[in-house]
This record gives sequence, structure tokens and C-alpha cells, in this order.
Amino acid sequence: VVASMAHLQEEKLRLQEEVLGLQEKLTAQENDELSRSLQLQAQVETLKAKLLEQAQEISRLRSELGGTDAEKHRDLLAAENERLRQEMKACEGELRELRRQQQAPCWDCAHLQQKTNRLAEVELRLKDSLAERAEEEERLSRRLRDSQETIASLKSQPQQIKCIIKTVEVESAKAKQALCESQSRNQYLQEQVGMQRQVLKEMEQQLQSSQKTVAQLRAQITMYEAELEQAHGQMLEEMQAMEEEKNHAIEEAFSRAQVEMKAVHENLAGVRTNLLTLQPALRTLTHDYNSLKRQVRDFPLLLQETLRSARAEISQAIEEVHNTNRELLRKYRRELQLRKKCHNELVRLKGNIRVFGRVRPIMKEDGEGPEAANVVTFDADDDAVLHLLHKGKQVSFELDKVFPPQASQEEVFQEVQALVTSCIDGYNVCIFAYGQTGAGKTYTMEGTAANPGINQRALQLLFSEVRGKAADWDYAISVSAAEIYNEALRDLLGKEPQEKLEIKLCPDGSGQLYVPGLTEFRVQSVEDINKVFEFGHVNRATECTNLNEHSSRSHALLIITVRGLDRSTGLRTTGKLNLVDLAGSERVGRSGAEGSRLREAQHINKSLSALGDVIYALRSRQGHVPFRNSKLTYLLQDSLSGDSKTLMMVQVSPAEKNTSETLCSLKFAERVRSVELGPVSRKAELTSWPSQEQLEGDSPGTAASSSRGHTSPSPGQLSGRAASIRRKLQTSG
Ligand code: ADP
Ligand code: MG
Repeated sequence: VVASMAHLQEEKLRLQEEVLGLQEKLTAQENDELSRSLQLQAQVETLKAKLLEQAQEISRLRSELGGTDAEKHRDLLAAENERLRQEMKACEGELRELRRQQQAPCWDCAHLQQKTNRLAEVELRLKDSLAERAEEEERLSRRLRDSQETIASLKSQPQQIKCIIKTVEVESAKAKQALCESQSRNQYLQEQVGMQRQVLKEMEQQLQSSQKTVAQLRAQITMYEAELEQAHGQMLEEMQAMEEEKNHAIEEAFSRAQVEMKAVHENLAGVRTNLLTLQPALRTLTHDYNSLKRQVRDFPLLLQETLRSARAEISQAIEEVHNTNRELLRKYRRELQLRKKCHNELVRLKGNIRVFGRVRPIMKEDGEGPEAANVVTFDADDDAVLHLLHKGKQVSFELDKVFPPQASQEEVFQEVQALVTSCIDGYNVCIFAYGQTGAGKTYTMEGTAANPGINQRALQLLFSEVRGKAADWDYAISVSAAEIYNEALRDLLGKEPQEKLEIKLCPDGSGQLYVPGLTEFRVQSVEDINKVFEFGHVNRATECTNLNEHSSRSHALLIITVRGLDRSTGLRTTGKLNLVDLAGSERVGRSGAEGSRLREAQHINKSLSALGDVIYALRSRQGHVPFRNSKLTYLLQDSLSGDSKTLMMVQVSPAEKNTSETLCSLKFAERVRSVELGPVSRKAELTSWPSQEQLEGDSPGTAASSSRGHTSPSPGQLSGRAASIRRKLQTSG
């Protein structure tokens, strides 16, 4: 609004300047007019002079002509002249008046108009007088003609008259000339008047345009003034509105501040009450703090005292614990010995030789037709019974456990694993796979890469068991692999596998056997085991032309030795796990073999019979056990006798074509298993278990049924026997 006001102010100033300019212009124009009227006056003066001259001329002429018509005319002219002079005077008076008016400082336009009107009037009068003069001239010329005619008539009169005429003629010529001159002057004056009129017209136009401009400017000024007024009004209104707004805002802020003030006051009141309630709490806190400070001051002393007493208590407690520990250790050792004793007793009662049967599935190799028909069936309620269809008759066999074709490697191992772990406790264990070639011996012992057999699983289990006992025991597991072919023992892990090894008695008098030169590998992981197995396989394969045939005609042994040391008691144990994949049990002469093949078969038969005899002798507790009848039994002597444990896994084929061999294998199994417990010669030593032994001894046959399905380790014979001396349970002392 202020800006627009300033603009309007500027505009107003500009307009005032313009008006001033116009006024100046107007003044200039009026000055012009003044100068022109002066000129006009001068002209009137000259005209006056001429008129005077003409009047003189006329009077002269009149005097010359005498009282004639010309004289009368002259009088008329004089009168006319007089009138004109009067008019001239009036004109002069008007002019004077005009000058006076012009000199007066009046710029009123109406006055200007008046002046113009008067000027026009004067002009009109001038015109009239001019017209009259023209008429007069006409009349004069007419008279002149008349007088000329009179002169012509007078010519015919006497000479005197002629002379007079001549003079008149001469005089009239002069008068004519004067007339002409006055006419030309008249003309000139008329022209002048026309010019004046033109100038007057232009001036009028200019005056009109300037009047128009003035009117426009006035209208503009009024318009600007109105705008100015409006802007001013608006400004006032806005200022008022702003004032109102300001007042309103101030009021609002004030009310808000009042509300806030109120809240603050309330808060303050709350804080005050809080403060009042907090003061007692502060007092108690201060009190507590002071008492705590005192306590802290006294704390080191108290602590030292407490520590002293605690130390004393702790050392006393340690002493007590030490004593208790010693007592416990003593009791533990006693318990351990008792447990061994009981364990051995249990084994003696249950028998330490177990016989399992495993039937492999029918395979593509069995061919088709009746030859490949399944002849082995099982008892759904009894997992120890197996039925064989032989020559149309069903023959039943009872073993400790029978695995059907669908039994997995894992299931088989579950039944064996307790036997395996017992060698960690220092027992010797033998696991044999017996049966005709192709019945699944190697599958059960070695298995396949994807589905490993007892060998690898046993080692893995031993590793994990040993790891579990690592807190108290140090264990070392080592592996040997050997082969018995044609009664010759060879080291499968040695540098010279073809070399025959001898079995010798330990010179230390312990009665233990050992094989000088037999390689023993320390194993710590599954990778180590795999390496050992691979090495053994490679050695075995390089020594024969046909591995399959060779392996079926030789016994393969994997001997795992577990040596343990109980760090707390110093107790040492050694357990041996012998895993034997026996040669095929098929009977000699069946294929009409001769030469080396016959010799091989005889050796196999001999060693298998020797094994049967040894087991029989052991189970029937004969005084003499024929270990020396074969390399195999001789080598395994310490693992078969005493409180050692033996498992015979009899493998059979279910195919009809193998029926007779299956029958032989099952008969062998039954014969080994059905061996009754020996005489009650050791009864006196079994003071703790008389009734059970009595029970078993009184009722033959129950031993088999009672041990059926037994999966826990079957301990060995009496601890008091000579064989038990070879037990690996030794103290470090
Ligand atoms: P052996 O060692 O008694 O001569 P093998 O172990 O070599 O017999 O077994 C002969 C064939 O039968 C092999 O191909 C083996 O994989 C297969 N076999 C044996 N037992 C089983 C079983 N329980 N499940 C599956 N296949 C078996
Ligand atoms: Mg085999």
C-alpha cells in the first residue's frame, strides 16, 4: 500500500509538472497573440494614413472640379471616411481594451473565448467596412465613367472647354492611378486579414486541444485521487485488521500462558508434596548410608577374619574329602574285583560261547527256477528258531539268535556291540563268521563301503567308547591283520606278506602267545582304519591270482588290541578283539577236487574241525582243549580260553540248491552251541552262586533257552583258574 501511495504521489507530481508546462505553453501563445495584435495595430495605422491621403486627394479633386456631381460624391466619400475613422477609433479602443486584458494575470479560458469573440466581431466589422469601401469604389468608378462621358460631351464644346477637359483628363488619369494604388493596398489588406483569420483558426484549434488535454488531465487527476483515496482506505482497513489480529494473538498467547502457568503451578505443588514425602526417605537413606559406611570401614577386618576361618574350614573339608576319597578308592577297587568275580561267575553260568545264525537274501546269482527257491523259514514268535526244508521235511534248529535276510548290518552289530566293548574292560573276544562260500561271511565281517560290517563298526565303537572314558583312562588301540592259508600264517600288513610267521610262547612265563614279526598299527581314527584295511586288501590281492577264490580258501583275521591305563588307580588292562572271516566250510570231494585244490580243502576242513573241537572242549570244560590241532586255534588260544568270549556267526544261504551245505552249517552251529556246561568240578569255588549253577546243572537244555536272545557281554570262566592268570587285568604296581 505504501509503495502504491508513493507511486501515486510520483504520478501526481508528474501531472503537476505537465500542467505547469501547459500553462507555460499557453503563456507563450498569448504572448504570440499580443505581438500579432500589435502588428494589426500597426497595419490599422498605415491604413489610417492611406485613408487620410485618399481624403486629401479627393478634396483636392473636388476643389479642382468644383461643385459638380464629383463634388457631391467627394462629400459623400468624406462622410464615409469620417465614419470609417470613427470605426477605427472604436477598433483602437477595443485593441487597447484587449491589451489591457492581456496584461491582466487572468488565465481563464472563458475570458479567452470572450476575447476571441470580440476579435471575430472586429473582423466582421472590418469586413463590412471593406465591403462598403468596395461598393464606394464601384460607385466612384461609375461616377468616373459618367464624368468621362460628360467630358466627352463637353469635348464637342468650345476649345476652352476642350482644354479644361484635357486637364480634367489628365487629372482623372492621376485620380485613376491613385485609385489603382488604393485598390492594390486594399487587396493586400484583405490578404493580411485572411492570414490573420487562418492564424486565429489554428490558435482556436490549439486552444481546443489544450482544453481537451487539460480536461483529460483533470479527469486523470481525479481518477488518481480516487485511487489514492481507495488505497488509503484499504490500507487503513488492513491496518485495522492487523491490529485486530495482533490483539487476538496477544489474547490467545496470554490465555495459553495462563493455562501453562496453571499446569506448572500444579506440577510445582506435586513436586513440593513429593519433596515432603522424600525427605523422610532421604533421612533413612542417609542413615543407611552412614551405617553402610561404618560396615565398609569394618569390612576388611571382618573379611580377614572370615577368610581365616573359611580357610581353616576348607582345609579341614579338604582333609575330610581326601580321607573319604581314599576310602572310596579302596572300596571301588574292592568292588571292581567283586564285580569281576561276579561277572566271571555269570559267564561261567551262562556259557561264554554264543552262536548266531544269519540268513542272506536270495540273489540274482542263485539263478532261477526250483534251484533258487527259498527253503529257510522263521518262527514269528521266536527269533532263535530257524526251519529248513530238506527233502520235503522241515528241520528246525535252535540257536542263540537268528537274523533273517532283511536284518540290516546295524541290527546285527547291535547284538554284537556289547561283546566288542567288553574288550575295553580287558576281555579277549573272538567273533567268527562260519559258512559255505557265498553265504555272506565277508559281507557280515567287512560289509560294503556304503554299508560296513562288524570290523569297521567295532573299531568306530571302540573309538567312541575310549573317548567317553578319556577323563580317567588312557587308551591305545592297535590293529594287526593276518591270513591263514594252508596252515601257514602270514602278516597282511607286513613288508613281506609272503613270509610265514611262527606262533611262540611269551618268554616271560605268563603263558601268553605272541607272533614275532606280526605288524601292529596304532589307529586313532576311522581314516586310519580305512587305510589299514586297504593296505591289507592290497597285500592279500598281490599274493594270489584270484582274490575271491583265495579268500574263500583262507582264514582272514583282524586283531584289535585295546590297552588301557586308569590314571587314578594305575590299573592296566589289555583286551583283544579277534574278528575272523573263516574259509568256506563246503565239504571236500563234493566237486571232486584234486592236487592243490584238494590239499587246500583238507587244510580248511582240518582247521574248521579243530575249531569245532576246541569250542566243544571248552564248553564241555574238558581238561584238555586241543588248541594245537590247527594254526587258527593255536593262534587264538588265549582268546578262546579262560573268561574270553566267543561268538560264532553261522552264515547260510536260503537257496534250495545250497540246502545240504546249509544243513551242514546249521548242524555245526547246533553242535557247538548245545555243548552242555562241564562237570561241577569248580562248584566249591562258586560259593556266591550255588543255587543257579545247581539249577542249570540239574536241568540240561535250560542253559540254551536261558541264554537265548542274550545280548550283554557273556563273561568267562572262573577267576581262580589258570587261564584267568592270562587276563589282562594288571595293576601298574
Ligand atoms: P562269503 O564271504 O561267505 O563267500 P559273501 O559275503 O562274499 O560270501 O557274500 C556273497 C554275496 O552275497 C555278496 O555279493 C554279498 O554282497 C551278498 N550278501 C551276503 N549277505 C548279504 C546280506 N545279508 N544282505 C545282502 N547281501 C548279502
Ligand atoms: Mg568271503
